[in-house]
Amino acid sequence: MRIEITCPNCHHCFNPNEAIDQSMRKAQVRGEGLVMLECSACFSDIAWRPNASPPETPFRCPVSHCSGWVSKLLSDEMDRSVLACGECGSEWRDPINFFIEITEIQAQYAYRTSCYRRGSSIEWSPAPFDLEVADYEQKVRDEPLDQKTTFVRG
Ligand SMILES: [Zn+2]
Ligand SMILES: [Zn+2]
Repeated sequence: MRIEITCPNCHHCFNPNEAIDQSMRKAQVRGEGLVMLECSACFSDIAWRPNASPPETPFRCPVSHCSGWVSKLLSDEMDRSVLACGECGSEWRDPINFFIEITEIQAQYAYRTSCYRRGSSIEWSPAPFDLEVADYEQKVRDEPLDQKTTFVRG
């Protein structure tokens, strides 16, 4: 699912290319930034800003080899929110699948357990940042690259 843009000049609706889409998602996760793009119909320049508010408490991404942050974004489809990583671009439509991946990655790598706290039943919540193991990002970089070929993981 690409982010949809409406050109302020000619009102044409279009989906930006994948590279632009990725920078827009990163800006959305941070809740700030400016992305320049071109309308695919009238070729006028569009300055796009995310309208998402900054994430309250982001989660560490549960994808192997990724030390990015996952936050809730408002999806453009039916106003449903999705969870998305600003680093690897992974997204989860159903939070249950996100929690399952958190459970799985912690079973594989013990240091990953310093990032999450058990919530109710299957749910996880982010652990306070200062509890995270000191060399977390270095350890995650040593993990094998994730094998999934699609951004939408569940
Ligand atoms: Zn246009
Ligand atoms: Zn990620």
